[in-house]
Amino acid sequence: MPEKIFTIPINEAFDTKDGCPLCRMRDKLEEQTLESALGAAMMEPAIRIEMNREGFCNPHLLAMYRKKNKLALGLILESRLDELTGMLGEPAGRGKRGLFGKKEDKGDATEVLAEQAKSCYACKRIRSTEYRYCSNTAWLWESDEAFREKLKGQPWFCLTHASMLLRVAKEELKDGPYAALYEAVAGRMREALTQLRQDVTAFTVSFDHRNADKPLSEAERTSLERATKMLR
Ligand SMILES: [Zn+2]
Ligand SMILES: [Zn+2]
Repeated sequence: MPEKIFTIPINEAFDTKDGCPLCRMRDKLEEQTLESALGAAMMEPAIRIEMNREGFCNPHLLAMYRKKNKLALGLILESRLDELTGMLGEPAGRGKRGLFGKKEDKGDATEVLAEQAKSCYACKRIRSTEYRYCSNTAWLWESDEAFREKLKGQPWFCLTHASMLLRVAKEELKDGPYAALYEAVAGRMREALTQLRQDVTAFTVSFDHRNADKPLSEAERTSLERATKMLR
């Protein structure tokens, strides 16, 4: 049986009914990951090696920059910059061609840089823990009647977490529980997306001068913002 260490925080996240429960867990996890990156984790040599190798994506680097601990960020950047400079290696043999006129791979750092532009220590950590959250959620669905009711009571799941949860569940659950989970998650999404579509339409037609004195409901007024969360 896979480790089921997240059952308590998952139950807590599913106790609340406000948007995607897995987004709530992810947001908390992201905050913890960045706090720890600037704190305890940066003192651990093994983790520091990982940070130097992976770097940080722009949103995460900006989020760290906005935090207080500028010395920690400076130290992290020093060794990251050394690593990145080291990856640049030798200049490419520009213009040199192989026997049949095809450009030979001269081992320059173009591909390495492309990988580096995409990689992020925090994204990688968050993503792997998110998968474990989904795996544990699927396991709770299969084994805990009370949890099934909590999941069915959620208002919606965002696109990312609905797909992640269903994918993991398809892999790990027996056919019956998986089909029931699929119906619960897809059913919630179908309903929520249909409602969102109606609210977005009400929002757009409110720009028509003929509707100038028709007030929008709260759900209609905030529909675009809700879309940014649901289509996350
Ligand atoms: Zn989500
Ligand atoms: Zn990132």
